[in-house]
Amino acid sequence: MGILETCKSMIVEYALCDSCFGRQFASLDRGFGNKEKGRALKMLLNIHAQTMIQSDRKGALKLAKALAESGYEPSLVTLKKLRKKLEIVSKPCYICSGSMSRLSEFAATAASSLSGIECSTIAVGCRVPLEVEEKEDELKSRFKLKHGENIRYEVTREIGAQIEKLMGKKINKIQPDVTLIVSIPGGETEVNINPIFFKGKYRKLIGGIPQTRAPWHDGSGGSIEEIIGKPLLEQTKGESMKFHGAGREDADVRMTGRGRPFVIEIIRPKIRTVDLAGIQEKINREYDGRLQVLDLSKADKKDVSKVKIFGEKARKTYRALIKLDREMSEADLLQLESKLENITIYQRTPTRVLKRRGDKVRQKRLYKTDLKMVSPDTIEATFQCEGGLYIKELINGDAGRTRPSFSELAEREAQCIELEVTDIEECI
Ligand SMILES: [Zn+2]
Repeated sequence: MGILETCKSMIVEYALCDSCFGRQFASLDRGFGNKEKGRALKMLLNIHAQTMIQSDRKGALKLAKALAESGYEPSLVTLKKLRKKLEIVSKPCYICSGSMSRLSEFAATAASSLSGIECSTIAVGCRVPLEVEEKEDELKSRFKLKHGENIRYEVTREIGAQIEKLMGKKINKIQPDVTLIVSIPGGETEVNINPIFFKGKYRKLIGGIPQTRAPWHDGSGGSIEEIIGKPLLEQTKGESMKFHGAGREDADVRMTGRGRPFVIEIIRPKIRTVDLAGIQEKINREYDGRLQVLDLSKADKKDVSKVKIFGEKARKTYRALIKLDREMSEADLLQLESKLENITIYQRTPTRVLKRRGDKVRQKRLYKTDLKMVSPDTIEATFQCEGGLYIKELINGDAGRTRPSFSELAEREAQCIELEVTDIEECI
C-alpha cells in the first residue's frame, strides 16, 4: 500500500489529531514538526477527496467526512461540493484524546509549579498511560508504520521548548537542577528537585568531634557533618542532607595535614546560590582551634563516588603515640622499623566495630614506618599506609585479629594513646 492509501485508511478508520497523525511519519522530512506534517497530510487527503468526487462519490464523501471529524475544517467545503448536509461532530483523537492540543497549557502549569524554586537547568519527562501507548502501537502494527516516534518524545520536546521560552531556562537532560514530570492526559506536574553538592576538606584540630551524627540523632549538633552541613542546609532551604567523607577517623582522632575531603549532598534544595566563602569563614571563626574547613566549593554527583572510592584507596599518613608494657632499646626500635616497611597487613574487622561492620579479612599495605623514641617505653610512630587500615589495631594487634602487628613484631603489649591523621592523598 502506498503512503496515500495508508494515510487514507488511517484517517477513515481512526480520528487522529494533527500531531498524532503526523507523528507516525516523524522521521520522514525531518524539517517539519509532527503537527505541521499531520496538517499537510490532511490537506493532501482533502485534495485527493476532491479529485474523487466524479469517479468515486461515495469514497470522496467517506474521506471528507473522516477528515472533518478529525478536525480538518476545509473538508467541510468538500462536503458542500458533494451537496451533502451532514451534521459533523468532531471526534476526540483516538490516541491522545485531545491532550496534544493542550501542551501549551500543560507547559504553563509546569512553569508555574517552579515558583519559589531556584534553578537554571530543567529536564522534562512525562507519564503516559499504558492505554495510550498501546493504541499507538496498535496503529503502527496495523498499518505497518516504520517512521513514527513515541508520543513521549513529542510531549517532552514540545513542553520543554515552551518552558525554555516561557522561563528563559535551559533544557539539560544530563544534569538538570529540576526534573518536571508531566502526566498525560491531565497535565498534572510532579516537581523533582535534584540534589545540590558541595565539596571541601576539613581539618580537625582536637579530639572529641565525631564525623557524622549519631544514628539516634541526639541533636547536639556537635558532629562535623552538622557543623558544616547545617549552614548549607539552611541557605539552600533543603529538606535534608547527606555527608560523604573520604573515609572517617574515630571521634578521638585528630585530622590534620591537607585535610580530609568530603562532599555534602543537600536533598531538595530550593536555593542554589550560596555564599560559600561566607559560610566557610563563619565556621572557621566559630570553631577556631577546633575545626577548619578548606576549599568549600560546588561539586557534582560524580564527586560522591570519587570520595567513596578514594576514601578507601587513598594513601594516608598517621602519627601515633604508642605506650609499651616494657622498655625497648634504640637498636630494637631500628630493627622493628625495618620490619614495618612495605608489608601487607591482614586485618580482620576490629572487635570494636564488629557490631556495625561485617566480619572479614582486609589486606592493606603498610608502605613506610618511622619510629622515634620519646622515652624507653613511649614511641612516636608515623605510618604511611593504604586507606582503610585500622591503625589502633595495627598497633595493639586486636588479640591476633590483625597480623602482623606492631605489638607482635615488637614482642610487647603496645597501646595507641594518641592518634592523628596527618595527611590524605588528594582525591577531589
Ligand atoms: Zn492526538
